[in-house]
Amino acid sequence: MTETNTYPIGTPGVPWGDEEKAEWLARQSVKRSYRDEVLDKLDSVSGAFERIHYGALSIDAERYPLFAFKTRDWHADRPNALITGGVHGYETSGVQGAIRFLLQKAESYAQWFNLVIAPCVSPWGYETINRWNPAALDPNRCFYADSPAEESAALMAFLSGLDVEFLAHLDLHETTDTDNTEFRPALAARDAKHQEIWQIPDGFYTVGDTEKPAEGFQRAIIESVEKVTHIAPPDDDGNIIGEPMQQPGVINYKASEWGLCMGVTGAANVTTTEVYPDSPKVDDENCTQAQVAAVEGGLGYLKDLGSDHGK
Ligand SMILES: [Zn+2]
Repeated sequence: MTETNTYPIGTPGVPWGDEEKAEWLARQSVKRSYRDEVLDKLDSVSGAFERIHYGALSIDAERYPLFAFKTRDWHADRPNALITGGVHGYETSGVQGAIRFLLQKAESYAQWFNLVIAPCVSPWGYETINRWNPAALDPNRCFYADSPAEESAALMAFLSGLDVEFLAHLDLHETTDTDNTEFRPALAARDAKHQEIWQIPDGFYTVGDTEKPAEGFQRAIIESVEKVTHIAPPDDDGNIIGEPMQQPGVINYKASEWGLCMGVTGAANVTTTEVYPDSPKVDDENCTQAQVAAVEGGLGYLKDLGSDHGK
């Protein structure tokens, strides 16, 4: 663990006000295209899924429409599963993994589940490669009533309008080297609060909810992903990013208390997947495949549980 370094915006020891947040926003720039890398691909989604335009980001509503997809042939007697990507827009494989699953795999799960898939919750973050939204808020700490983050608020409003209970929610993320070099130092500066910096683990892991760890569900995800990529080992203290490892490749966070996206549905089986894209052992394609494997591992486990119960 090392101290976070000083950040080029604001005064050390003083939390940011509007001026510092505006200065931060002015330093951000578009680095890739939501249109080319996300929206164009979504034009190929099968007609088995209904496309729902559930909102847009106010910074540029035309450039940043928000889309989700929902099983068209919805059966009330089937369990419902939610998959979200790009809550952190910079975490590329979360977005591309959700799209890949939607394009190539989702239809084959339709006989067991009603699916809801929101592949890119934070499109401005996707284009500018940011963890925060334009208001310097982390959408994955803002899933609570009257959320100040419009990405989180829009998703919550959409889900609440569906008025369904979910059996499972998989929220697809990455842990990157820039978490330590950029995003945690920025957080420390914004809030004028010390942030511990942990060694970024080399490998995939999942984060369950402390209140309902769903051990079998997490294990099934790890077992599916390890066929595709390596799993993060614990550090010398038995931790992954400072949290005690619960079983190989799994830690838990307090989802609701922290305002995490995985706490948004109340589903019994929730996970945040964490792909490590900066490993020398992986490339973009491998990371996308790891996210797809995670979704398939989790849904496959629940499908088998359901059919066992039916016997
Ligand atoms: Zn994330």
